[in-house]
Amino acid sequence: MEKYINDFINLAIGSGGWMILDRIYLRNRLESLIGEWQKENEEVEMPESMSSQEIVDKLLNVAIKNNKLDSQNKRDIEKLQSELMELLTPPPSVLNALFSQHYDNLPHEATDYYHLLNINNGFIKSSFLRAEEIEIDNSNWVIQPNSWANIDENVCQQCFESEGFGVLKNRLKRIIRMNLKGESWGFSYEQTPLFHEHSQFFPEEHSQFEISRKLHETMLQLVEIYPHYFISFDPLKDKVKHHSSFFGGKKNLPLFKEEATHEFDIPGFVTVSAALVDWPLSVIRLKTTSKKNLLNSIEYLNLRWQQYSYPSLDILAKNESGEVTHSLIPIFRIEDNMYVADLILVDESVAFNRTVNYENLLADKFSIVDQLGVINIKEDLEINDRLKEIVAENMLKQSVFKNTPEGETAFIRFVDTL
Ligand SMILES: [Zn+2]
Repeated sequence: MEKYINDFINLAIGSGGWMILDRIYLRNRLESLIGEWQKENEEVEMPESMSSQEIVDKLLNVAIKNNKLDSQNKRDIEKLQSELMELLTPPPSVLNALFSQHYDNLPHEATDYYHLLNINNGFIKSSFLRAEEIEIDNSNWVIQPNSWANIDENVCQQCFESEGFGVLKNRLKRIIRMNLKGESWGFSYEQTPLFHEHSQFFPEEHSQFEISRKLHETMLQLVEIYPHYFISFDPLKDKVKHHSSFFGGKKNLPLFKEEATHEFDIPGFVTVSAALVDWPLSVIRLKTTSKKNLLNSIEYLNLRWQQYSYPSLDILAKNESGEVTHSLIPIFRIEDNMYVADLILVDESVAFNRTVNYENLLADKFSIVDQLGVINIKEDLEINDRLKEIVAENMLKQSVFKNTPEGETAFIRFVDTL
C-alpha cells in the first residue's frame, strides 16, 4: 500500500502542480480523504507499474474499508474519485505556464504533456481498445465502439466557467488559453474522444459562428499554432450547441491517407493545386503555400458549388423553398510546409441524408467525424458483416458524386465548369 501512496504522490508531483516539498502535505491530504492505511489491508501481489486509474481504485478501496465511503453510493464514489484525481491536476495558471514552456520547445511537446495529464487524471475517457479497420469502396476506414462519459450538464462545456466546475469530471477540466488576433480562445480535449487527441477550440465568448472567410482564417491560424493537428468545423454539432467550437486532433485519420486522383486547375489560381480524392464521399483537395490564395480559392469553389445543379443525379443547388442546399466542410492541415484543405461537398437534400440503419449505429449522431473515416458506433454493438454492409450502403447514399461511372463523370464535369 505504501507503494500506491508513493506512486500517487510521485504522479501528482510529476504533473507539475506540486513540488518535492509538498510530499508530507500531499500524504496528509490523501489520508484525510481515504483514512489511514491499515497493515491488514496489505495485498500480496503488487504489479510493478500501475496506471493512475488503477492506483485510485486501490485508494478508493481503502476509503471503503475505513468507512469513509459507501461502496453502494455510485455518485459518492465518483465524487471521491474526482477529488483524488484533482490532486494530479495543476491549477489552470500553472498548467498554462507549463504548457507554454513546453510549447517553446516544440508544439507537440506541449500537447503531449497536456494530453497525458488529461489521461492520467481521468478527464479523457475512451481508449479505442476495440478499433477495427475495414475496407469501404477500396479505402480503409476505422470502426470503433465508444461509450459516453458522464459530464456535468449544468454548465456550457465550451464556456471558461466549466473549468473546475462542480464535484465530478469538470472539476478536472483545465483550459489552455490562446490569443487569436486579439480574441480570447480556449483549447481543451474532448471527454469522450472520437479519434486520437480529439480537441476542441472555442472563443471565450458564448456565441455561435457565422461561416465566413474570417472563420477559415482562424482555422488556418490554429493549424499554424498546432502544425501536428488538423482543424475542422462540424456543422451538425454546431446546430445543437449554442457555443460554437472547432474540432481537431492527430493528422492520422483515414481520409488524409487517401491519394488524390484527377488533378485539375482552378482558373485564376495557378499557385493552388487542386485534385479529387479517392474517397467514397465527394472530396476536393487543395494545396498551396499561399494562405491568401487558399482562402480565395475556397471562397470561389464554395460559390460555384452553391450554384451547381445536376438534376439527373438529384443534385440541386436549391430546395423547393428556394434555400441553398450546397455547402463545403473544410478540413485544414499543414503537410510538407504546404497548407492543405480537404473540402467535403455537402448537399443537404434528403437524397443524400444518412440512412436510418446507419444513423442508429452511431455513438454520436451529431458529428461528421465519420465522414473523415472514423466511425464511432454504440458501445454494445458487434462489428460484423451486416454492420459493414450498412456502413458501405450509407456512404454510397451520402456521396453526392457517387463512385459510379456516371457519378465520376459528373464530378469531373463539375470541376471542368470552374
Ligand atoms: Zn458557452
